[in-house]
Amino acid sequence: MCLLWACTRSFAHRHPKIFVGFLHPFAVILVLVITVYFVVLQMFYVVPKLFEMDTLVYKLFWLLAIFICYNIFGNMLACHLTDTSVPSLPLEKQSPEPGEGHLWDFCDICERKMPPRSWHCVLCNRCILKRDHHCIFTATCIGHNNQRYFFWFTFHMALGTGVALATHTLVVLQYCSYMNLFFLNFSNVKDLPNWLFLSLLVNIYALAAPGAALFVQFLALHINGTLHDLYSETYNLGIWRNFKMVVGEKGLWTFFSPTIKSPLPHDGTKWEAKDVGIGEC
Ligand SMILES: [Zn+2]
Ligand SMILES: [Zn+2]
Repeated sequence: MCLLWACTRSFAHRHPKIFVGFLHPFAVILVLVITVYFVVLQMFYVVPKLFEMDTLVYKLFWLLAIFICYNIFGNMLACHLTDTSVPSLPLEKQSPEPGEGHLWDFCDICERKMPPRSWHCVLCNRCILKRDHHCIFTATCIGHNNQRYFFWFTFHMALGTGVALATHTLVVLQYCSYMNLFFLNFSNVKDLPNWLFLSLLVNIYALAAPGAALFVQFLALHINGTLHDLYSETYNLGIWRNFKMVVGEKGLWTFFSPTIKSPLPHDGTKWEAKDVGIGEC
């Protein structure tokens, strides 16, 4: 796995245009196909085995599916459209203020100074504010301005596949118990339809990917770090302030929609370090 990752990374660095041109459309289409697959499978095959289609619970499942899809696609699009590069800053913010020059690094590729915590991305070919990583599924870099959307994108992907796994499991238990969850008879597992068994396996894999991405996001968030400094507590301001640094002043309200306006505490050029002060790093 490490070898595959190293080879992919090496190829991306050597041939960034080919990598981006091939992998971005593939990854985006994969997300679209998987999401539609789960909605169709859940709403027309799995959930109807638990609740009749004319019941209130079944209709609530439809509402939940629409809400999760809206947030997956909405946050994915917002993530892609939100520019988090250094050139997106107002001109007067693209160079250090007097006395702060020593905090800015020089990018040899862009031949310009970049704020603390910024990194150059070879795939975007730009310096990215508080760069976390390059995401092929949103076809852009994740950084200071769009990490909120990436966080909720992975969260809703994990939520959707998590709910799907729960309903899948209930249907399997139903087969095992013939509707009696307290007296399971696993010898009946052999009666499981093949499609249900296969879709359950796909579901487990589909949950693992966004689940792992979300776990890493939580790891970074709890210390206000990024993938580049996942073990550094330099910028850790406490979990709630760290969270607002990513999602903005509206906090948990941003869970409901990517369209909720939630200004970030700052523009990504000055970083308050733990026990040191603003701008130090
Ligand atoms: Zn650069
Ligand atoms: Zn990038």
